[in-house]
This record gives sequence, structure tokens and C-alpha cells, in this order.
Amino acid sequence: MIEPVVQQHARRTRLIAAASAVAVAGALVTASPPSASAKTSKPSGSTARGTGGAVSSVDVNASRIGREVLAQGGNAADAAVAMASGLGVSEPYSAGIGGGGYFVYFDAKTKKVSTIDGRETAPAGIRANAFNDPATGKPYPFTPQLVSSGVAVGVPGTVATWDAALERFGTRSLKQTLKPSIALARKGFKVDKTFRDQTLDNAERFAAFPDTAKLFLPGGDAPKVGTRFRNPELARTLTSIADKGPKAFYRGPLAREISSVVRAPRKAPSSTLPAPAGTLSTKDLAGYRVRHQKPTRVRYRGLDVYGMAPSSSGGTSVGEALNILETYRLGGGKRTARSLHLYLEASARAFADRAAYVGDPRLTKVPTKRLTSQRFANSRRCTIDDEKAAPRPVAAGALRGRGCATVTSQAKPDTENISTTHLSVVDRWGNAAAYTLTIEQTGGSGMTVPGRGFLLNNELTDFTAVYDRNDPNRISPGKRPRSSMAPTIVTKDGKVRLVVGSPGGATIITTVLQILVNRIDLGMSLPRAVAAPRASQRNVAATPAEPAFIARYGKALARFGQQLTPSGDTFTSAAEIGAAATVEVGRDGRMTAVAEPERRGGGSAMVVRRR
Ligand code: GLU
Repeated sequence: MIEPVVQQHARRTRLIAAASAVAVAGALVTASPPSASAKTSKPSGSTARGTGGAVSSVDVNASRIGREVLAQGGNAADAAVAMASGLGVSEPYSAGIGGGGYFVYFDAKTKKVSTIDGRETAPAGIRANAFNDPATGKPYPFTPQLVSSGVAVGVPGTVATWDAALERFGTRSLKQTLKPSIALARKGFKVDKTFRDQTLDNAERFAAFPDTAKLFLPGGDAPKVGTRFRNPELARTLTSIADKGPKAFYRGPLAREISSVVRAPRKAPSSTLPAPAGTLSTKDLAGYRVRHQKPTRVRYRGLDVYGMAPSSSGGTSVGEALNILETYRLGGGKRTARSLHLYLEASARAFADRAAYVGDPRLTKVPTKRLTSQRFANSRRCTIDDEKAAPRPVAAGALRGRGCATVTSQAKPDTENISTTHLSVVDRWGNAAAYTLTIEQTGGSGMTVPGRGFLLNNELTDFTAVYDRNDPNRISPGKRPRSSMAPTIVTKDGKVRLVVGSPGGATIITTVLQILVNRIDLGMSLPRAVAAPRASQRNVAATPAEPAFIARYGKALARFGQQLTPSGDTFTSAAEIGAAATVEVGRDGRMTAVAEPERRGGGSAMVVRRR
């Protein structure tokens, strides 16, 4: 129950004039060179500088595909869709046609940012208590019951997103665009350690589904590093989508097969995994539509920051935190610890507010405008002590009322993992795409569609697990679960300057925010901003942080009362937070594409013409 109370925090500060903020944004154009000690680009190609177009992703195969499309005259939308379908082949545990995502696009001609919400959707037949075990009446344990189930599978949105993106922004057909990923699926890609590790992390539940085991555990083991992984079944599925369009996915035999797997998960007879059935029907698939909606937009230090509006909480949360931070002078050097303290405090507020207010706007009232307004940010800023961490969880902000009013709302835990994938593209004309796509956790539901070569998502686990009718993210038929995905495009004077995004569940929001703050406020070059160690404060007492962050800032932040704790994926032991893929465009039009130098095995950044 959410009820207004007034919090007694002192109003500590004045707002800083916009003029000084604009000066700070100048840092974005005059990047400080990476320091000798900074981890910048690895020879594997995590940074590329040049012209003619730039791409960035976690995977060299996908980046190669995107670069090729740009080099051959395709635009950012063409390249983004081609890369996404490539990622569905070489990153099949993170993304693919069995999942969904959010596509943010900047059109250089109209200077307009548009978005496509291709989020998975709950089937019409889902019940409010779908996450309760009918045998006991109690919620299914999250792992392994709920995550590996038909109940968790949402109607996939990815194929519809590709079709819509090409239709609205692209210059090429779906058939042309899927060609390189079909070839990749047929010829295969070289297995690296990340792919093998992700397979091993999932081996037990993959083994419970013979169709999945046949594909991803050939001969009973995860594919060995250095071997070639081919997926001819996926090549055939993509070919049929390329030939016939989205109806090859949303109608006909494939739609029937998807529905039948979800409604009757095909378990190994010996498996003890419960794998409860879902209700997804062919009608749900035939009725799936992407949503075209306005992006969120906040002004930050003279820049326009565009993000994904609800059903994702990415745009509102990153936007709110930036609005809060804009009221401070942040800076590098000695000021870094204070800046990071404020970053953590702003982030805690943004997470309190997303929990209280953000869900699918079609089925719940979401105050998107208010959450991204400077007025609201000011009311949140006045609950922040510049010198001392607030006890957490902090309360959500009141939507109405004056001063530092807050409301009591239940703080809900969120999962932290490193699934999902993101790609960033800028083309020679200055169009840009930021596209984050996912099948939810690494390995999705663990269930493949037999003979079709792809995994089904378990995205509905993003609904709040325990039903609460006041929760904006409660389960409802036809509803999209709240996401944290935050594909972000930053422009200045109508030109793209930065494209940023990352996987990582709820840490996506903090990763995008931290990269923006590192780059815009803390004087880091983009390679440094991406490589810098991360912390992810999501309205919990101790902030999960990478070991290098704790080593570097732990002591200094303790003086602000900030507690840090080593980060850890919910499902694996990985300590890393996120796997960003970014592009920056300088004032002179030069492009810097930056992927991760280390995290998730290192990403891949490319430009059409190297400097
Ligand atoms: N399901 C998550 C979201 O939409 C993405 C998956 C992840 O990165 O863990 O926010």
C-alpha cells in the first residue's frame, strides 16, 4: 500500500545554474586521453576509432556483420537488425528470436528519436497466481522451478521488432538483412570460453530438456573451446522468416510448436525438474504487436538523453538519476569519492521510485513524465545528504506534494545477473541505433522449440514474483513485465554524440548511468568510462560492487557511510557487472566505438574506416 508521508530530511542545497552544467558537457567533446594505468583497448578490438560508421557489441561475429552492412551502404537500422540476428546465433543464451527487447533509433534527417517496444507479453490465459504452485498454494521457488518453466515464457517480440525497425527506419528487406546470420548459423562460429562456461552453467537444466540437450550439449558435454558450433536448425528457421516474413514465426506451424512446448514442456522422463506448464496460445502469438512510443528524454548538462519508456524502467530510472545528479557539481580527482557517493544515492532513489511506480503503462498508470521531470528530481535530491549515505531502503518520492515528500512502498528485491545483450550502431549519415535484446536469464527458460534451433525466454519472471494488487509490476494477462533494459542515445544540438547500453538485469540501469557519469562528469575518455570498475546501488543497504571498485573506492566511500559488498551474479559466480557496448561521435564526426575490454570475455568494436 502506498501512502503519502512527509520525510523530515533537511533541504540542503541550491540547484546549480544550468550555465555551469553546459560547460561540463564540453568534456564530452574534449575527451581526456586514457591514462597509462587505465584498461583501455585490448588487441582483440574493444576500441575502434574512425569514420564511415561504427558498431559495438559483445561479439566479434555480430560486430563484423554490422560493419559489413554499413560498409555496403546500409544504415544504422539495417546494421542493428543484422547484428541482432547474428547475436541470436552466436549468443543464443542471451538473445534470439525466442525473446524480446527495446530498439531506440535516432534519425539524423528528422533529428527525431523513436522507439520500438518489442517486449515479451504475458499470454491472455495467465492467472494472477500463476507463479504459485497449485499443489501447495505457495510461490514456486524462483530457481529452478520458475525460471525453467512454461509459466515464465512470454510471447516473443524480437521478430516483430526486426520487421518494424526495417519497415520504419531501414533501407533493406528482412530477407537481405537476415542473410549473414543465416550463413553464420550454417557455417558456425568458434566456441570461446564464455560460450562454454555459459553452457556449463546451464548444463543441468539443459539436460532436463532433451531437445535443448541435443542442440547445446552434443554428446552430453558443452561444446569445447576452439571447436565450431553450427546450428543448421536455426539457419532453416531464420530462412523461413527471411522468405515469408514475421508470419512464419507468429502463425502457422512454428507458432503451433512454440505454444505446444510452453503448454507441455518436453522434459526428460528421468528429470526431477518440475517445469510447470504455461498457457501461451497460437492466438497470443498471432496477436503480438510491437509498440511504437515516445522515448523518455531528459536534459543533462546541455545534452539530450533519450531512453526507453515503460514497459522498461530504463529510461525513467537513468533519467531520474541524471536529473538528480545535474543539481550537483560533480568532478574527477579528489571529488571522485563524493561524486560516486552522490551517484549511489541518486541511484537508490531512482530504484525506490521505479519499484513504486513503473509497470506496463497499458495496464497500470505510470507517471513517466513526472518521473523524468526536473521538479520531481529536485524533490528527491532534497532527501540526499551530500556527506552521508541514507539508511536503505529509501522511501519512494511522492508524486504530488511539496518539498521532500516521500511515500511508503514495499521495497522489492531484484535479481542481478549478466544475461541479455546490447548493440550500438552509428552510420555515416549520423543515424544511430541502441538495441538491447534478451531471452531474460542466460539460457532463457532452458526450453528450445524442437528442431527449430532456438531457446524460449523466461521473461515473465520479471513480473514481481509475489502477487500484490498495488504493485505496478504485478502479473496480468496481456501485460509486459517491467524491464531494466536501457538502450540510450545522447544527442547535442540535434546530432548523435553517444550510444550506450548493456546487459545485466537491474544492473543495466546503473551501468548505463555510471558510464554516462564517468564520461560526462568525471573526465574519463569513453574507453576508460566503459572499463572503469562498477558499483550498482539498487536501494539496498550494501552496494554490490566489482572487486576493483571496492579496492579503489571502498575506503573513501566508507567515509560517506557507503557500504560495498562484492557483486555476484544470481545464477553464476561471475563478479562482473554488465557488458556494455557503446559508440561516441565527436564534434568533428569522428567515431569511437567501445566495447568491454575484459567483461564477458571482451567485446568487439569496429568502424568502417579506421582512423
Ligand atoms: N529481463 C531483464 C530485463 O528486462 C533483462 C535480463 C537481464 O539482463 O538479466 O531487465
